[in-house]
Amino acid sequence: MHSFVLDALDTTGADTFSHFEMLIDEHRRMTDQLSAELNSSGCAQPSIGNLIVPSRLKQLVPGVGTFYTRLPLRKAFEAYNAKYGITKRRYVCISFNEIRHILNLAQIIAMIAPYSQGESCLNMKVNGMSLGPTTRLSASGLIENGGTIDGRNNNNNNSNNKGGGGERTMRQSETDNKVLEAWASMGDTPRRDSEDDSSGDSGKNKVAESPTSSPSRKPIERRDRSDTCDVEDSLSHLPTQTSLPGPKLICFDGDQTLYSDGANFEKTPKLAKYLYLLLKHGVAIAVVTAAGYEYQADKYEFRLTGLLAYFKERKLERENLERFYIFGGECNYLLRLGTDYKLHAVREDGPGGWMTSTKYFSESPGNWSEEQVKTILDKSEASFQQSLKDQNMRARIIRKKRSVGLIPKVDEKIPREALDETVLRIQTELEEAKVTLPFCAFNGGRDAWVDVGNKRVGVQVLQSYLGIHPEETLHIGDQFLNTGNDFAARCICPCVWITDPEETTYILKSILRLAGVPLMALMYHSAGEEKKANASKVSVGGKKVDFEEAGRRSSRVSMDVYTGEYIKKMTN
Ligand SMILES: [Mg+2]
Repeated sequence: MHSFVLDALDTTGADTFSHFEMLIDEHRRMTDQLSAELNSSGCAQPSIGNLIVPSRLKQLVPGVGTFYTRLPLRKAFEAYNAKYGITKRRYVCISFNEIRHILNLAQIIAMIAPYSQGESCLNMKVNGMSLGPTTRLSASGLIENGGTIDGRNNNNNNSNNKGGGGERTMRQSETDNKVLEAWASMGDTPRRDSEDDSSGDSGKNKVAESPTSSPSRKPIERRDRSDTCDVEDSLSHLPTQTSLPGPKLICFDGDQTLYSDGANFEKTPKLAKYLYLLLKHGVAIAVVTAAGYEYQADKYEFRLTGLLAYFKERKLERENLERFYIFGGECNYLLRLGTDYKLHAVREDGPGGWMTSTKYFSESPGNWSEEQVKTILDKSEASFQQSLKDQNMRARIIRKKRSVGLIPKVDEKIPREALDETVLRIQTELEEAKVTLPFCAFNGGRDAWVDVGNKRVGVQVLQSYLGIHPEETLHIGDQFLNTGNDFAARCICPCVWITDPEETTYILKSILRLAGVPLMALMYHSAGEEKKANASKVSVGGKKVDFEEAGRRSSRVSMDVYTGEYIKKMTN
């Protein structure tokens, strides 16, 4: 039985997620079969993201994305429920944001502790996780209330031991349990939307549930400022291995994912630390952002001020620095961090150039002509002009080399509805015009843009350039509605949908924790030391990274994030 009906969740909630798992498994199986048939017949094969199969899931959700991994949804739900007791609620049903959190958890579990093909979720339930509806995780993360580490005391054993297929090994089971115990021992999932609800402004700061509306933006991130911490000494708790299980490449959106919308990476030391730890353990990091300042490296550096200062103070080594990339303009300008802790353009052409080496796939920027680019920009500009006029928007249009933007005039705000209308209109017009290049028309929260290229291409270029497979790649972003620019990444890799930098921080902490990094290495110091007077400084091998100072430095000058122009601030 499956449903999300209150009072029945205790008995139906987990089965509902098993049902979703089964639908996804069926969809993946049919996609794999079609791919194999096309391969054997010698037909030109589209990418797996473009294959359309008549699965039940596709019929129920026509816009469903591509699944590059299986998703242990039941396991994620049970772990989430054990931590937060959502099936015990009597008046408030499971929310969209909670489902989003569960899907995110399932995705990172799948990448860190993948379970084998052909294994049904029912088997997993029998011989895998011991977490059942009545099982709880204690504050220390240990399983209690009758659950055992190998699941043999699971109340649902008998009723679900009919799935057939191979049994999981004890080793796999133990791995799974360790992974979820690690997650359970972490702090709570950021759920500021709930706090906002309690203030009576229930619509504010929530991910919009309408498939065509954009999530509203949160105010400038401030929480991490008070969380500035003296955590670095605990790096001695790090495991000695150089690489961790899990994604080999993590791509990040910029605005509202790594830093607040329109702001810079300044005062988020926890996030800086987790990015540092990932690089240190062999993960490639790429900021794949709509922000496009061509190859003016200083403009991207300005947006990443605090992060680059952190890397510099920690003396991040060359081989780790060189795994940090930024892809500006979605997929147009590729830069890499150098040993001087500054960004440098990656060579486009010639042997080893990123454009040259990715020309084998048709959508690569290396195959674009300036005439095709001009066609998209001309049509977009004309459409924006018409939208501006029709909706009396207090906005102006700016055109760059690879994008056109509709941005608010000074001190004006464009309503979300007007931005969504503008975006959906131009999406339709460009599709009807059958433009030949990939593009991305999106609502940026305060503005609307059409970029030539999109994040699907950006991530694919990175995968190809770095030799990393889609299932080893994770994209993290905040704009996964069909008017958002992270939406396109769903076609090329697993994704995690967050709503603000605080959630990004939590996801990275989860990845590191699930991958085996001890909690001590991720936590603050002991309670007594936690709130030292110099709480805004992070100890770095005897030195201190002063995030307040990093913020002050960049606050003396600001940058128009639309145009990239520097603005010197007036000082008293
Ligand atoms: Mg964003």
